[in-house]
Amino acid sequence: MIVTRFAPSPTGRLHRGHALSALTGWQAARAAKGRFLLRIEDIDLGRCRPAFEAGIYEDLAWLGLDWETPVRRQSEHFAEYGAALARLEGDGLVYPCFCTRAEIEAEIAAAGGAPQGPDGPRYPGTCRALSPAERAARQSAGIPFARRLDAAAAAARVGTLRWEEADRGEIAVDPRLHGDVVLARKDIPASYHLAVVLDDALQGVSLVTRGEDLFAATHLHRVLQALLCLPAPRYRHHRLVADAGGRRLAKRDAAATLASLRQSGADPRQLRTALGFPD
Ligand code: GLU
Repeated sequence: MIVTRFAPSPTGRLHRGHALSALTGWQAARAAKGRFLLRIEDIDLGRCRPAFEAGIYEDLAWLGLDWETPVRRQSEHFAEYGAALARLEGDGLVYPCFCTRAEIEAEIAAAGGAPQGPDGPRYPGTCRALSPAERAARQSAGIPFARRLDAAAAAARVGTLRWEEADRGEIAVDPRLHGDVVLARKDIPASYHLAVVLDDALQGVSLVTRGEDLFAATHLHRVLQALLCLPAPRYRHHRLVADAGGRRLAKRDAAATLASLRQSGADPRQLRTALGFPD
């Protein structure tokens, strides 16, 4: 049975790009008589708002979509993400990082640059080299720390990996693409990468449909799946929707939100057709 999902973060109102994403998952499930899930990715408590979550339900219903209930809300599952993190830590694949953003920038500048990952320069690995005694001392001094994946150790552990990308076939994973990425922030005991991988597995998602902007993240997601012995779903990364000027839509573009389309009297069937999903 095919299981798809739409997994928005309630940090703003949905726009046409989200509509394309939701429709892609919903339509794939419907065509295969499968299941379509909705998941609220709200681990960033400082940026998420209940009003935006309510807006998600409103906008999707306006689009004519339906989804299974109960809806999984990530903020209710920090303990599960913490347990996965502890397992990776126990396997020696995660280390505490005490660096501030400014310290990381200074370190990179002093080294004359750092290799680029998909989201900017890769972390230079400063805290990977700390001795167990130094780590313990900093922790007991109460210095806040994030937890990072030891990408080299993870790469050695997982060996060769691939994922199946709809219409493109097998994609070879570069397990070091993101470098020593943060798996739990200083202020949040999880990260998007960790939570999404665990939830997709836990919810039995068999086809992940999401925007092309998350294609690079899938390299890391396959690594985490392998390290945590989770099954690998298939993926379909779809095109991104641009505004009239050719720029990618963002949540800050108020005019492009589904809410404002609705308020201006737009017809949801027309929007669906324009996005490539006629009834
Ligand atoms: N929560 C993510 C976002 O709103 C999407 C996650 C995913 O589809 O994997 O960008």
